[in-house]
Order: sequence, then C-alpha cells, then structure tokens
Amino acid sequence: MWIDGEEVESPSGEQMPVLDPATEEPVDSVPKGTRDDARRAIDAAEDAFERGKWSDPYDSRERGRILARFVELVRNQEDSLSVLLTREHGKVLSESVSEIRSLENTFEYYAGFGGKIFGSITYTRYGKDPLELKVARKPIGVCASIVPFNFPISLFAWKVAPALIAGNCVVVKPASTTPLTEIMMVRLLAKAGVPKGVINLVTGPGGTIGEELVTNRKVAKVAFTGSTETGKRILQLASNSIKKVTLELGGSDPAIVMGSADIESAASALFTGRFRNTGQACNAVKRVFVEKSVGEKLTARLSQLIAEVRLGPGLDRSSTMGPLNSAEQLRIVESMVEDAKARKAKVLAGGSRPVNIKKGFFYQPTLLTDVNDDARILNEECFGPALPVVEVEDLGEAIEKANMTRYGLGASIWTKDEGERRRAENETKAGMLFVNYRPFSTPEAPFGGVKDSGLGRELGFEGLNEYLETVSIRTYMG
Ligand code: NAD
Repeated sequence: MWIDGEEVESPSGEQMPVLDPATEEPVDSVPKGTRDDARRAIDAAEDAFERGKWSDPYDSRERGRILARFVELVRNQEDSLSVLLTREHGKVLSESVSEIRSLENTFEYYAGFGGKIFGSITYTRYGKDPLELKVARKPIGVCASIVPFNFPISLFAWKVAPALIAGNCVVVKPASTTPLTEIMMVRLLAKAGVPKGVINLVTGPGGTIGEELVTNRKVAKVAFTGSTETGKRILQLASNSIKKVTLELGGSDPAIVMGSADIESAASALFTGRFRNTGQACNAVKRVFVEKSVGEKLTARLSQLIAEVRLGPGLDRSSTMGPLNSAEQLRIVESMVEDAKARKAKVLAGGSRPVNIKKGFFYQPTLLTDVNDDARILNEECFGPALPVVEVEDLGEAIEKANMTRYGLGASIWTKDEGERRRAENETKAGMLFVNYRPFSTPEAPFGGVKDSGLGRELGFEGLNEYLETVSIRTYMG
C-alpha cells in the first residue's frame, strides 16, 4: 500500500493473493488492509491538503508540469506495465497497451488545465449599493477513488487526474483482483513529484476499505465506478455525512441496426464493441436490435468475425481474446447464457466454456438469436463475451426495447437516414449516444449514464468540475 509517501504493509500482516486469470496461479499478493489503514491514508491526505502546498491556487501550473512528467515516466515503461496489467487482469497484451495509453491521454488532457481553472468577476447593485461578485473555483479536499476491475488503469486515470490537477488529495482503493498496476502508477506519480500524502492507495476488501472511505467525514468526495448494487449501497452510506458522490455504474447498452445501415461496418463495430476486453466493458454493446430485413446478413457477418477469434492467454501474442477476470465473472456469464438457452435461444456461436483449454477463466465468444424477451441477458447486465441479437419490425419497436432495462449508460444506432438518427437522439434514454460508430471514450467527452447507470460525469470539463467547489465572494464596493 502507499500511505503518506511510503510503501507500507498493513499492521494486520494479512495478505490477499492476486491470481493470473489465464493460469489461476498467483502473480503476487497485496496487503489485506483494515479500516485503520484506510483511516491512516485519509488522515495523511487531509494533512497534505490542509498543510501542504499541493492545493495552493498559485501552483496550478506546477501541478500540470508534475502530471506531464508522470505521463513521460509511464510512456517509458509502457511495455512492462502492459505485461503486468495482462497478468493480473487477463486481457490480451494489445488491449493492455491501449489501456496504458488511455491513462497517458487522460493525464495529458488534465495536465493541460494547469493554470486554466478560471473563476469570474461581475458587478451589480443591491438596491443602490455597488457590489463586486467574485466566483472562485476551489479544490474540495480529500477525494476517494474506488476503482473496479475491468479497466483498472483507465478508470484510475479518470478519477485521479482531474482530482489532482484541481488541487485535491486522493485515496485510491483498487479492486481486489487488479491492484498491481495501480500500485505501480502511484509509485510513478510520487517519482514525478507528487508530494507525500497527496496520493495514497489502500488495498483490501470493498466492504471494509471502501466503506471506511465512503463513511469517513474527512472525505469530501467519493468517485465510484462499479456495479449498480454497490453504487446504491454507497449512496446510502455516504448520506451519513454530506459529501459529493459520483457513481459510474452498470450498463446494458443497446445497439440499433436499421435496414439502411452499412452492415459490414456495423458488424465489425458491434463485434469490437461487444467482445473487446472479453466483454467486460460498462459501455460494451450488450443487446442488438436489428431490422428484420438485414437480420440474417448481420448475424452471418458477426458469426464469421467470431470464428476468427483466437481465445488464449493474454501474454500469448497470437491470442485475440483473453479469459474473464475471475471465476465469479465466468460463473455469472455462463449462467446468463444457460438461462437464454433454457428459454429456447438459438446459439449461432460459442455458448459454453472452450473444451480445449483446461485452466483459466475462459468462455467462448457467443452469439445468440431468438432470445426470449424475459431472458436475463436482455434484462440484466451481461459482463462477458455473449451477444444477443433480436430482430425488430421498425425503429419504434427497436427504441422501445432499447429503453426497456433499468440501465441508461450508452446506446448506439447504425443508419444512413437522417430522420432515424434524429429520432434516436431524441428518444433513447442514455447518457451517451454513438451514431454509426462503436462505443468508445475520449478525455474530451463527458462519460456517464442516466437511470440506474449512474450519477454525475467523468472526463471532459464536466469531469473536472466534479472536483471543484464553486464559492461566491460578494464585496461591498462603496
Ligand atoms: P464492484 O461494484 O463489485 O466493485 C467496484 C469497486 O468497489 C471495487 O474496488 C470494490 O472492492 C469496491 N467495493 C465493493 N463493495 C464495496 C462497498 N460496500 N463499499 C465501497 N466499495 C466497495 O464492481 P466490479 O465488479 O469491480 O466492476 C464491474 C462493474 O462496474 C460493472 O457493473 C460495470 O458496468 C461497472 N462499470 C461502470 C463504468 C461506468 O463508467 N459507468 C465503467 C466501468 C465499469
């Protein structure tokens, strides 16, 4: 763990193993932190915020320089960091490289805000009295970053980069199965010049470390990414003290494919959108609604693309898809496909664990059609490589079915028709819409969902704002 500028063990002496999902063998172990460890990290962050120089408004450009130096350090170690990420997560090496690069992009973007966090001044009269109204934007204090397992490095960056450039101090809590690369990132932040106490990291179970971060009165903001169930619990717990909370939660993103679409490019985008990261992406394409006239053409092309997948360990450069991250994820995905099969879904590809791979949490990329409306895979979030394709009569039916779940993270539409595009913009209930393009994230665009998919936004200017307090100063000028 990393507390107050030092690498430390937990006084509990207990360790948690981190497994390689491709071999089920341990890669390493990390301390099983306790509530006391979390409190020590929070106290260190509070001390650095109150007494250190990091939050000094005059030093915002210096903060930017330090974050830019961190990006250079990461760039120089891309290869070893990517290997470590693949070993603890399972994703194939090329996906780890792009994830490390996405961290670089996010830090580079927010480093650019150094010296550019503006307030405003305006003048008015209150009755006859002249007044100056100043609006200042200030850091908020100790920020907790609770990170899930699926993109541990990208999502670390989405939280830590805006928090730091705004002048806050941070305590990170990685997911239990993927803490190792995040620990390396915290070391590199310190090496780049982030002062002691400003960045801290505590490993351990969500139920203890996470809950201490959420309930501790010294924590001013909780940024959580994870499942909707945990998000709901966090919102309840955080209400003990009033603090800012952003929640980036689950999704069951629909993709609508209309008859006018370019089916070849739609199929390849849906394939990447569903199967990258072995299906473990919040904004993955999780349900497809296709106009009947082009249904067969689309599923035929998707089947071809799936047939080309080479399932295997992420470190093996010939693999194009790795294992799921844990035995638990494997079990959940398998049970959802079995449920759809029991309800008479047709399996066009996959549909089971691979028979030729004996170890690791592997599941075959799976394509399902004729899926019953009540099947779990059309109603719950499927966090793995299985895609249900449902034929619909028209756009109206597609939108109705797309909006059917409790989630509202992203949605996408493939069409060449301007009217259909506009109707999807107006009627899909989601925080993000992708038009003729696969779901992706970029630092410039705010990311987040509506309904049970979350609260608040990460990335973009909106994401930075979540780490700033707006203060208004009203001065009598008579
Ligand atoms: P999870 O909810 O199990 O865990 C997320 C993090 O919360 C982990 O660090 C965990 O240790 C911690 N945690 C667990 N219980 C806690 C508690 N009681 N109090 C505080 N912290 C606690 O989620 P996961 O399985 O790691 O991640 C997958 C989920 O994340 C999926 O639902 C996915 O859609 C979602 N996700 C959402 C986004 C988004 O931007 N909307 C992005 C990525 C992942």
